Amino acid sequence: MKKETREYNYDWMLWSIFNAGSKALDGTIKEFGGLVKVMPNFSPVINNFLRHGEPGKLFLKMISEYTNDIMTAHKEGKKLCLGTFVTAKHLFFSFDNVVPVWAEPLTVFGTLGFRKGTSEYMDYCCEVGFTETSCSAQRGSIGAVLAGLTEKPDFVICTAPGICDTNANAVQFLSSYLDLPFFQCNFPAKLTGDRINEYHHRDFKALISFIEEQSGSRLNVEKLKDILEEQRHQDEITDELYDLIRLKPCPLPPIFILMMYAGRLTMSGRKSYTAVLESMLGVVKENAARGHAGTASKKERARLLMCYIDHYTTDARFWEWLDSEDISLMPSLIFSFWNKGVNYAEGRAEESYGVIDTSSLDTMIDSLADINSRMPMIKQLRGPYDAPGMWRDDLLCMAKIMDPDFMVYIGSMGCRNSWGVNKLLQRDCEREGIPTMLLFADAFDDRVASWEHCIDKISEFMHVRGIRS
Ligand code: SF4
Repeated sequence: MKKETREYNYDWMLWSIFNAGSKALDGTIKEFGGLVKVMPNFSPVINNFLRHGEPGKLFLKMISEYTNDIMTAHKEGKKLCLGTFVTAKHLFFSFDNVVPVWAEPLTVFGTLGFRKGTSEYMDYCCEVGFTETSCSAQRGSIGAVLAGLTEKPDFVICTAPGICDTNANAVQFLSSYLDLPFFQCNFPAKLTGDRINEYHHRDFKALISFIEEQSGSRLNVEKLKDILEEQRHQDEITDELYDLIRLKPCPLPPIFILMMYAGRLTMSGRKSYTAVLESMLGVVKENAARGHAGTASKKERARLLMCYIDHYTTDARFWEWLDSEDISLMPSLIFSFWNKGVNYAEGRAEESYGVIDTSSLDTMIDSLADINSRMPMIKQLRGPYDAPGMWRDDLLCMAKIMDPDFMVYIGSMGCRNSWGVNKLLQRDCEREGIPTMLLFADAFDDRVASWEHCIDKISEFMHVRGIRS
């Protein structure tokens, strides 16, 4: 790692970018113009959010709050828990002195916000012992943690064993390298059934005991109740947004998809995420009432569904490009959470997590375990990709509901789970009549294939397949 890269802490840099961005619209237009001049390195990414007005500003405020909590955890006498993104966050927010940090969203924020992305941090993981074929989704931020360029976590949790080996290995490596206590939840091969529910419940209770032991505090049951009730409200807003997304033209601006799932993956159950959702819903309803698409031109040329992950190239150019091409973005698997009432869970009650029950600690633990076992990736990658309720089923179900004109797969080069089957997935989607393209690139690392190359390939595909060109 270059000496210059060691000059500033990773979490501090993220906080500086998003915090400055979130305040940029607080002053006058003249002040905003002046501010943009002194933040040339990250004004494009900030502008990509702020040009959407209030929802963009609230989103930046939420990320600023999230990164501030991480950066100041120790100063405020709290414990920092590092984990993987596929975890029910509510539990951690329910401790008075625990701050959770999730590896993958932290990588995404760095990849979007830093001029050179997170490649140096990714490479640092390999310098200290990771394989180069491990997933870039974790390596971006974990490289910074390993290099001592963030607040040091106090303990580590993993909710991906049996689901994703590279994800599980990344956090296991981190815990042994930094000699940190480690806990992992397990996931049986099947999703539902009494024995499985019981297993998840016991596993979650053990996780609570582990956090209590590490933090030296008790789970705040009242706080947990509030957070789960807030989640219930967030689910209702999300259900409404999902219904509106189905309209043609789609009234949702493409970048709102990122804002929806980034919020859910970092701040679920927190008020700041509710504010983002409510603000987005207002904009989307207005567009829908006027028959407008969510794009800047108000027109919809085509509808895209990413098979798995979006593309996190610097400055949020992926969403900017979609907008400039009048392409609406549909929710992907990474934003499927299976709350009861959401349109893609209709008729599949067994697979959804049902009504969140806050009547007692036991029912709340059940709800947490249910939510966790339906997280994206946790739900779809626990068995053969073409088994019922797994990746293929869920993707085709989402496609049926959202009616995309085409689909694009992009992953991480380390994703053996999805690269191993994506050709089959493409074949199955094409059989259903959906033009589907495999993009040989890495969603988190532009060195594999540049963003310009990706645009060329998607544009060429749209042209060759006659997709609204
Ligand atoms: S992208 Fe693939 S390798 Fe990375 S965490 Fe998800 S399933 Fe695992």
